[in-house]
Amino acid sequence: MTLNWRSKLIHSNARAPAGFRSLATPTYRGSTTILPTASEVADVWDQAHAPYRYGFYGTPTTLELGARIAELEAGKHCFITPSGQAALALIYMAFVRAGGHVLIPDSVYGPSRDLADRLLSRLGVEAEYYDPLIGGEIEKLCRGNTQIIWCESPGSITMEIQDIPAITRVARRLGVVTALDNTYAAGIFFDAFSHGIDVTMQALTKYIGGHSDLLLGSVTVCADPLYKELGDAHQLLGMCASPDDCTLALRGLQTLAVRLAQMQQSALEIACWLRNQPEVEVVLHPALPDHPGHEIWKRDFTGSSSVFSILFNAKTNRDFIVQFIDSLQLFKLGFSWGGVTSLVMRYEQLRRVLPVPADRIVRFNVGLEAVPDLIDDLHSAFSIVRNQTHGSRHG
Ligand SMILES: *Cc1c(COP(=O)(O)O)cnc(C)c1O
Repeated sequence: MTLNWRSKLIHSNARAPAGFRSLATPTYRGSTTILPTASEVADVWDQAHAPYRYGFYGTPTTLELGARIAELEAGKHCFITPSGQAALALIYMAFVRAGGHVLIPDSVYGPSRDLADRLLSRLGVEAEYYDPLIGGEIEKLCRGNTQIIWCESPGSITMEIQDIPAITRVARRLGVVTALDNTYAAGIFFDAFSHGIDVTMQALTKYIGGHSDLLLGSVTVCADPLYKELGDAHQLLGMCASPDDCTLALRGLQTLAVRLAQMQQSALEIACWLRNQPEVEVVLHPALPDHPGHEIWKRDFTGSSSVFSILFNAKTNRDFIVQFIDSLQLFKLGFSWGGVTSLVMRYEQLRRVLPVPADRIVRFNVGLEAVPDLIDDLHSAFSIVRNQTHGSRHG
């Protein structure tokens, strides 16, 4: 067939030479994928067991990222979602039904709490918050209609370590699905499935992306029935992720080991330095021996990461903490964590059932800057605020 140039723009015979064996996973973009024969026209999300149907269900780039996260977490299947928050939503949409009840640790990631309080409640699902340190006592809170027990360890901001095996033993016996937000551990430092968890999620935005330039999430399972329910919800909600972002996440994976190792060490050094400052009441870091749940952390985790918090003592006040943060130069004020830049964040209040002195808590993410520079930065911020406090008392 001789084609007009206009048709050649769409149907070209020109081809690049074959055999380019790059070390990088190609970025496959695509909505339509061409089906092999007219007899095989079916809309099936499970691309592992069917020819590619539609880019919506994943391209080789997004599916490779999913397969690699599943491999690292020792799971069987993994769905990639547009953000960590979307991963949380996917788990809810797959496993809750109207009239149900979910148990959530009081120290859960804030936007996860918002999702439960502001969206699930409208769908007739009741969210109940439990003491993250409850362990096997969770049994007393389980009801006939409990559909998910959530875990997150360490807890967001306050860093409580949960006794996950104790919780999953109860859940297994009662037949309740357990879901874990495993973002802190990057899916590496805590082996969720060997501790009895059914479903894990991660904000790939954090350590897997690792450079503060993408938003992605993942949901991993072992059991096939859970995989089917998640796949169904993933399709119905249209949770496709950008292949370009997945390429960046695949690149991030290659340096994850060195980034985590350095961040672990730097964060510990800085946590120890902060512990010796007179205004700091306590450093909330699971690898410190006096941390609540430290023994469980030692038993269950193989490492700590870049994020921890400090509680300023009651002699400081809001102005002191605000000025301290505003005096930092290298630690940038921003949400999220897991990237190469050191970050700091304060909280005016935390919506918790259990009392927490939220306005005195400051969270840090330690990036890849040299530790002595970061300590100098903290030291000079303390000096500035101490001088001002001193000045105003006498002035
Ligand atoms: C950041 C975060 C999320 C959400 O991830 P996004 O990609 O920012 O939506 C979920 N859980 C935890 C513990 C997080 O820190």
